[in-house]
Amino acid sequence: MSAATRLRNLYETLATHYGPQHWWPSQSLLETIIGACLTQGTAWTAVERSLANLRQRNLLHFEALRTLPIDELRELIRPSGFMQRKAATLHAILDLIHTHYNGSIKAFARTPLPEARKQLLAISGIGPETADAILLYALHQPAMVVDEYLRRVAIRHGLAPSRASYAHLQQLVLTAFAEEQHPATLANHYNEFHALIVQTGKDHCRRTPDCAQCPLRADLDTHLQGKPLAY
Ligand code: SF4
Repeated sequence: MSAATRLRNLYETLATHYGPQHWWPSQSLLETIIGACLTQGTAWTAVERSLANLRQRNLLHFEALRTLPIDELRELIRPSGFMQRKAATLHAILDLIHTHYNGSIKAFARTPLPEARKQLLAISGIGPETADAILLYALHQPAMVVDEYLRRVAIRHGLAPSRASYAHLQQLVLTAFAEEQHPATLANHYNEFHALIVQTGKDHCRRTPDCAQCPLRADLDTHLQGKPLAY
C-alpha cells in the first residue's frame, strides 16, 4: 500500500475515532488571522489571553486594529510572546489586506491560492505553516497545514523520511486526497485532518509517544513489525 493511501486511511481512522473537530476556534475571520499569527511558538492559552485583551478594548475589528499604534498592539499581545515580531507581522498582514483588497478579508479569500500564498510568504515573520493556516482557516482555501505533529506521525509511521521537508509532507497529503476535485471539499478535509492530527499529537504522539492507547496503533504495528520507533 502506498504512503499516501496509508495516510488517507489514518485520516479516516482519526475521523471515526474523534468525530468532527469544528476548527478554527475563533469568532471571526479576523480573529483566525490574529490567532494564526500569535500561535507561532506559543500555547493557545497564551493566544486566548492576547485575544481577550484585544476584545476588551473593542479592537477585534479590521480598521480599529489596523490603525492601532504598533506599540499599543505590542503590549496587548504580550501574553503570546515575541510581541515585537508578531505585532509587526500582524500589522503587515492587515496592511496587505487594506492596500490590495480594500480591507476585505473575503476579497482576499477570492485570490487564487498560489498568489495569496505568495503574498503572505512575502511578509516577514510568516513561514509556510502560518501562511497555510491563514489560507485554510481564514480564507477557506485548500492549503494543508504541516506542523510538528504531522511530521512526527508521518515519520514514526514510515510514511516520510526523517528529514522530510515541509513541501514533501504537504505533497504527501495532497497525493492522499488527490481524488478530491472540488476545492471546498478538499479544504474541509484539510481542515479536519490538521485538527485531528493536533488532537492525536496532544493526546498520544508527544515527544514520548503513548502508542498503546492511540487510535493509529494498528497501522504502526503493521509498519514496525516489532522494531523500535526511529523518531
Ligand atoms: S502515538 Fe504511536 S501510534 Fe499514535 S500516532 Fe504516534 S507513533 Fe503512531
